[in-house]
Amino acid sequence: MPRKPTQEKLDKIEASYIMFTREKLESIILETNDKLRKLERNIKSVLNSISRPSKCNACGTEVFWVTTKAGKNIPYTAEGMNHYADCENVGQINVITSKFPRY
Ligand SMILES: [Zn+2]
Repeated sequence: MPRKPTQEKLDKIEASYIMFTREKLESIILETNDKLRKLERNIKSVLNSISRPSKCNACGTEVFWVTTKAGKNIPYTAEGMNHYADCENVGQINVITSKFPRY
């Protein structure tokens, strides 16, 4: 019959498991951050080539005006978000719209 592990042994196993999990998570976070930075650079590069860069007068975020196929002008952020949806002053969409430069 196998011997029951001591509490000290269990604590060591738990500590090494926690360390392994932490290292794995840190590596995943670094990898994900790296991918996100590359993705953001790519999005910004695409937006720069097809849009008119500007700044949101309501919050100062850099935005890129893109004209949709339907002819609507939409301000996108470097993260690829529609700034009408993610502006911190989203509740004042008419104010923001009027503050954006029109082309
Ligand atoms: Zn804004």
